[in-house]
Amino acid sequence: SAKGMGRNNFQTYVAVPEESHQQRIALETKLRVAERNNELRVYYQPQVDSLTEDIVGMEALIRWEHPELGMISPGFFIPLAEETGLIVSIGEWVLRVACNDTKRWQNRFNLPLRISVNLSALQIKQPNLVEIVRNVIDETGIDPTLLDLEVTESISVKSIPNLMETLQALRDLGCRISIDDFGTGQSSLDYIRRFPADKIKIDQVFVRNIGVDPDDEAIVRATINMAHSLKLGVVAEGVEIEEHFNFLRDHGCEELQGYLFCRPLAPVSFENMLAERERLFGAGSGSVEITAR
Ligand code: C2E
Ligand code: MG
Ligand code: MG
Ligand code: MG
Repeated sequence: SAKGMGRNNFQTYVAVPEESHQQRIALETKLRVAERNNELRVYYQPQVDSLTEDIVGMEALIRWEHPELGMISPGFFIPLAEETGLIVSIGEWVLRVACNDTKRWQNRFNLPLRISVNLSALQIKQPNLVEIVRNVIDETGIDPTLLDLEVTESISVKSIPNLMETLQALRDLGCRISIDDFGTGQSSLDYIRRFPADKIKIDQVFVRNIGVDPDDEAIVRATINMAHSLKLGVVAEGVEIEEHFNFLRDHGCEELQGYLFCRPLAPVSFENMLAERERLFGAGSGSVEITAR
């Protein structure tokens, strides 16, 4: 299949660590073409309530559907998009598409679905980010309190002097801010305390080791407790097995995201999944197990 083929071809094509300057330029050109030719896709991965297993929202995750190489993961091209500045227009496009799709599904299924969109540091640096987000909210009619913007913990005030003000301005629009990949950066606790955020996302490197490494389990527990003490919500990513799920739920992590529940889905598959749930459990119903599991 095109997908399987893409995987294999891609490795010889990019080889990220030792890629040559020429390969990089070639990839940059292809990425520009991809944007123009509508080869970029937004996939959606559900986030579920750990107690009820309701779908409470989903994360928008970009994909590149290359005509010959198949589906290319963002791990390969987002760093390049950031280096070249292409992430600014790509990120705005993702935001608009994600809000549009979400608004449509909120209406069709009568569910208060929340959408999480990743923001890159370069987007936050743009002086007009808040204006862009406001425009997308106005154009799509999305409830801003259901728009969650994820910024990675490693984002720094040194490189983005307007970071705190910008995040606060986004919250003033009604949006929520999540600290993504939490625990993998070098933030001080003082920095975390002052960070204008609503939620912490525990990184999958810690979740992966639940049931394996007691130190990582201790970090997960401490993170959940710290978040709650600071009046922040907690979501865990990379939940792959029941053992992760049970541990996180039992330690009070309120939301979960991972392959155990569902992989990131193409919009049509995501919509079909919601339709199937509605068929099985009734309109507006969420108090049921996610069927994809
Ligand atoms: P992230 O924001 O931390 O997203 C979570 C990643 O974990 C996603 O990888 C998701 O597919 C993956 N994941 C979800 N559940 C599991 C699981 O159970 N096990 C494992 N091993 N992985 C799981 P993905 O889609 O490849 O995205 C990678 C990164 O690319 C994202 O990490 C994010 O930093 C970046 N990214 C994706 N879309 C965008 C975007 O629209 N804008 C920006 N700026 N960055 C994006
Ligand atoms: Mg994220
Ligand atoms: Mg993350
Ligand atoms: Mg991550």
